[in-house]
Amino acid sequence: MSENILILGAGESGVGAAKLALTLGFTPFVSDSGAGKKSLLGELKSLGIRYEIEGHNPDNWVSSTTVIKSPGIPDTASILTPLRASGSEIISEIEFASRYSKGKVVAITGANGKTTTTALIHRMLTDAGVNAACVGNIGTSWARDIAERKTPAEVTVVEASSFQLDGITTFRPDIAVLLNITPDHLDRYDNSLENYSASKWRITTNQTSSDYLVYNSDDVEIDRHIKARNTKATLVAVSINKRFESTGFNACLGLKKKEFTIHTPYKKPFSMTIQELALQGKHNLFNSMAAGVTGRILELRNEGIRESLTHFEGIEHRLEFIATVNDIKFINDSKATNVNSVWYALECMETPVIWVAGGVDKGNDYSDLLSLVEKKVKHLICLGKDNKKLIKTFSHLVESVHVAKTATEAVQIAYDLGTPNDTVLLSPACASFDIFGSYEERGFKFKQAVKGL
Ligand code: ADP
Repeated sequence: MSENILILGAGESGVGAAKLALTLGFTPFVSDSGAGKKSLLGELKSLGIRYEIEGHNPDNWVSSTTVIKSPGIPDTASILTPLRASGSEIISEIEFASRYSKGKVVAITGANGKTTTTALIHRMLTDAGVNAACVGNIGTSWARDIAERKTPAEVTVVEASSFQLDGITTFRPDIAVLLNITPDHLDRYDNSLENYSASKWRITTNQTSSDYLVYNSDDVEIDRHIKARNTKATLVAVSINKRFESTGFNACLGLKKKEFTIHTPYKKPFSMTIQELALQGKHNLFNSMAAGVTGRILELRNEGIRESLTHFEGIEHRLEFIATVNDIKFINDSKATNVNSVWYALECMETPVIWVAGGVDKGNDYSDLLSLVEKKVKHLICLGKDNKKLIKTFSHLVESVHVAKTATEAVQIAYDLGTPNDTVLLSPACASFDIFGSYEERGFKFKQAVKGL
């Protein structure tokens, strides 16, 4: 009889893991405490994979040495206690998939910029004709990709969340990219930046000297880990503030901060002007530099990297330009679900801002935003159920504060307040679940409302 694998969570990663498990000859069983998604459950059914929904019922489970836990289930969930006690190994889907992946692996993590940087690196690889997979948090689960792909990917680019990294034991990317460590999801980490940070750092803990860690050398928290030197990986620093010599792989800005340079150990450095980059803003400059140096480690050609970074289209819900209506510009940054990403959004605004913010506060500390809001924001529109904290923090810094119950209402208020040359920016600093099903739904409804003006 084949080995059983218990999968907790019937989302994309759970169903992908079940599919891979089946392909590999295991017997998967999927259990979800919620209702599950129709299309994913349909997939399990058509593959003959057994599952249960609307509650975990251990009586239905057969003993499994391996348990794959969805990133949505916290490590403290009571359902895990008996499994641990019985000696099961509880891992994440990326750990499981990595055990069966062929080819090189590039993994990207950080509080912000993961999806953008993952997409940039994948785009550079496919532009260069490499058979590359783009998996993880960004969309398709890694396990599903392995199960469904005809020819194994030469390079797999994985967007790894901290929750996925919490469940790794042997996962060892050839190149790890650590973008930044700023507070997010602290509710899942006992409100401790230390715990959250340790979880991000796991991306490099199994690396050896033949692997690379591309890291943000301007980030205080990352710097602390680097100084403790608890990684064996070859370090590749990327910085906006410091300048580096050509000692190995690294990336930094030029003296006048108008171009960036990527050094490699063996060839002439490669430079690109900031103006050439498709994605503008300081944060995207950093993402492009990190992607570029990763491309060089993967031995992509300089001119190919330049082309890809120049022609990248951007991603929905990330500082996405929607339209200009009567000289008022509308931007959808619905994916900005924490303070740091809003900081970058406000930082790159060049005209007066009508800021739409709010939703489910994940323990936000807004102090970093105060001076930017004072400088750039004219009006604040709160789009959340409980707006007390936002109002208390910012009302003395802006001309007026308004409350909207729907995206349409927020857009209408913004439009009425707006004068030519203003920018209406949806950049919420909060999760969306009080009013919307997801940040995508929030962004989509906002865009629809703008298009309806
Ligand atoms: P993630 O996948 O890590 O959530 P995204 O690429 O989806 O990151 O971007 C999420 C939000 O963070 C967007 O609002 C985007 O403008 C902002 N952002 C992107 N890159 C960075 C970065 N390097 N530092 C800070 N904020 C960023």
